[in-house]
Amino acid sequence: AAAQSTPHIAMVPTPGMGHLISLTEFAKRLVRYHNFTVTFLIPHDGSSKKSQLSVLEGLPTSISHSFLPPTDMSNLPADTPIETRIILTLTRSLTDLRESLRALAESTRLVALLVDLFGFPAFDLAAELGVPAYLFYSCNAMSLCSVFHIPKLDQMYTCEYRDLPEPVQFFPGCVPVQGIDMIDPVQNRQDDTYKLALGVAKQYQRAAGLLVNSFLDLEPAAFKFLMQKGGEPPPVYPVGPLIRTGLESRSDLCLRWLDDQPNVSVLYVSFGSGGTLSLDQIRELAFGLEESGHRFVWVVKSPSEDSKNATFFKEQIADEPLWFLPEGFLERTKGLGMVVPSWAPQVQILSHGSTGGFLSHCGWNSVLESIVNGVPIIAWPLFAEQRLNAVELTTDLKVALRVQPNEDGVVERRQISECIKRLMASEEGKMLRERMTALRLAATTAFAEDGSSTKKISELADIWNH
Ligand code: UDP
Repeated sequence: AAAQSTPHIAMVPTPGMGHLISLTEFAKRLVRYHNFTVTFLIPHDGSSKKSQLSVLEGLPTSISHSFLPPTDMSNLPADTPIETRIILTLTRSLTDLRESLRALAESTRLVALLVDLFGFPAFDLAAELGVPAYLFYSCNAMSLCSVFHIPKLDQMYTCEYRDLPEPVQFFPGCVPVQGIDMIDPVQNRQDDTYKLALGVAKQYQRAAGLLVNSFLDLEPAAFKFLMQKGGEPPPVYPVGPLIRTGLESRSDLCLRWLDDQPNVSVLYVSFGSGGTLSLDQIRELAFGLEESGHRFVWVVKSPSEDSKNATFFKEQIADEPLWFLPEGFLERTKGLGMVVPSWAPQVQILSHGSTGGFLSHCGWNSVLESIVNGVPIIAWPLFAEQRLNAVELTTDLKVALRVQPNEDGVVERRQISECIKRLMASEEGKMLRERMTALRLAATTAFAEDGSSTKKISELADIWNH
């Protein structure tokens, strides 16, 4: 039957909008250019189903989805690290996932399982079915190199990496990285997430291939290292930049506001889907924006002392009150700035001609969206591998400025306003913008007809559809 001959891929996204979005974008390409069909099998705890549906419902009909029965996460201690929480959501769903995969294998020509960077616990299920398992690494090549390098560092040193006397390099040609800028899970060697991170390299080696959401020309040295034959990683495929293609309606209030602003004049400020700031930090940022005198669109979330756990597993609430902003801030910045509670149409904002800069937490999706639109960055990393991304953006690619928190971990208003002025209105900012424009061009080239990422995806499609 026709349906039987169409190659089918099962994709399993773990919690986190970034994971889902990049997998769906990859699915869209497979469907559109290679005639695949795709099913998303989604482990979840019921907390962010609505946001996930907003992404899934706009997809072509050859991409279907099914939510696995919700897992019960209520017995986890409140301070359970995000990485553990994500992986547990999956491992507690494995029995249901096995059943769904089996059903798919019976009703379709299932050619591969594709999981995201936390999805390796599902590898065994693919093996049971005799289907190859691939991993979509939705961060950059540099951080993937660090994953493979961590077991070596573990052998070489006994101290915490932030106390290393010298910066480290994850591959030949890597910019030097301070220990404190390495990924979050390795920052405390006593922590369970450290053991988890240490084991990830081994897990990744079990994959039939690693797809990376980046492109050759962006990180040539890192990819050279990852793609060398006989190296540690399995075959690596640079398949990016896959970014969310616009969905939100043009009638959005802040897009209309941007329409009325001068070209390249607005700073977009956002810390991603999960990033939050403390109350003090929100206020400093507000004063910094105000002091800079530059135009801005600021996506604000309610304050939280924990920069990451707060909103990752929660729905985005659009009409939260803004009690935490400094008194009179909204009135004083009226006309100059726009405050958007919780969530904004980021891709459209970044592609708008009025947008001239991005103050970002450096989540990799945000970085790619900025690159694709040629928007230079003020890097304000918060967690996960974001500090590593900030290092790459500032010292390697030189398309960003980076803020430095004081001893109390707060980035002061003075520094914020100065960074904004440097980015938006100085010779230095102009150079950053020019280099970002060059990267934008390289990103477009990667997806041209015979571009590097186009070719890698075709290569994969051929392997899967042999
Ligand atoms: N995003 C958005 N509106 C917002 C905040 C985030 O559309 O107000 C999107 C953003 O465009 C990106 C994703 O959510 O595609 C965030 O992914 P990223 O990797 O940057 O950060 P994370 O949320 O995983 O920390």
